[in-house]
Amino acid sequence: MNLPEKLTALKPYDPITGSYSVRLDANESYFDLPNVLKSKIADKLEQIDFNRYPAPLADGAVNAFAGYYGVSPDCVTAGNGSDELIGIIENCFLKKGGKLVTVSHDFSMYGFYAALSELETVVVPKKDNLQIDLDALIAACQDADAVIFSNPCNPTSLGITRSDVKRLLENVNCLVILDEAYMDFWDESVISWVNDYENLIVLRTCSKAVGLAAVRMGFAVANPKLTALMRAAKSPYNCDSISQMIAETVLSERSLLEYCRDEMIVQTQRLYTAVSDLARRFPALLDTVYAPRTNFIFVKTAYAKEIYESLAKQGIAVRCFPNGLRICAGTRREQTLLLTALENILKPE
Ligand SMILES: *Cc1c(COP(=O)(O)O)cnc(C)c1O
Repeated sequence: MNLPEKLTALKPYDPITGSYSVRLDANESYFDLPNVLKSKIADKLEQIDFNRYPAPLADGAVNAFAGYYGVSPDCVTAGNGSDELIGIIENCFLKKGGKLVTVSHDFSMYGFYAALSELETVVVPKKDNLQIDLDALIAACQDADAVIFSNPCNPTSLGITRSDVKRLLENVNCLVILDEAYMDFWDESVISWVNDYENLIVLRTCSKAVGLAAVRMGFAVANPKLTALMRAAKSPYNCDSISQMIAETVLSERSLLEYCRDEMIVQTQRLYTAVSDLARRFPALLDTVYAPRTNFIFVKTAYAKEIYESLAKQGIAVRCFPNGLRICAGTRREQTLLLTALENILKPE
């Protein structure tokens, strides 16, 4: 059997496993669904025809999504998590050998699917302040087929404004895929622009602010022409009936969603303030804490690995990068545990 190297060279995605009492590594919402909503979902579960295939276009979930975000349902494609949509778009909107522009650091799955689709990936490094170098990005896109990045960014927590996105869109001809997985926490979405541009796809997910990481529902928003292509390219029954029903139910709960989102923003600012304070006290150990546009913070430090491992020993999971740590805003209690542990790690013996 002759297996291609693109397959045999793969390193499986390696999420943290094991038992941690505090999980601040995956950028999930810290709100589980309220029990009343879980009961409502349990009732609806009984009404599902389990012997029947799900709705191919996930109409109920798509309509609820479109209603919550104020877009037309004709512009929305549902996916099995936005992850699936990233894979479909990279695989089907580009040819083998096509050129995909990404930035570094950003979400690792962009490069992962690009490699499986045998694309040429061009990575534009970020500036020293971890912001996207827009001029370099625009230059790299001139002979590219597509560009993809997250805004605001995982892992840096920083974003580019609408006016910068506009400058990008007006200066490139390639497909522009904007992953707005964390845009609920900021206010620079371009989701309402999809009918103004023939080449814009915006990705959103239920896994972060909406609090449904368990359910695997993501959405691509684009003009009807691109939407028709995405719907044609996806597998017909990519979202199961149960996930569709849960996403529809939860996306119809505007006040709950807005409450949870606002609370997470408050907790993120609180974490940012507290860790910035630690960085002022221990400047040799913590370099910079960036003002977050997301539900997590990024801390630049040369001691990322050491701090990460010490926290892990105490049952606290954060995400480690070569140049820093990404820490999701948990509950107040989780933050207190994190901050106490962090302070003990940083304090001289
Ligand atoms: C978490 C995340 C996603 C994944 O979303 P799913 O819908 O759970 O697949 C996509 N993009 C970025 C940048 C993320 O951080």
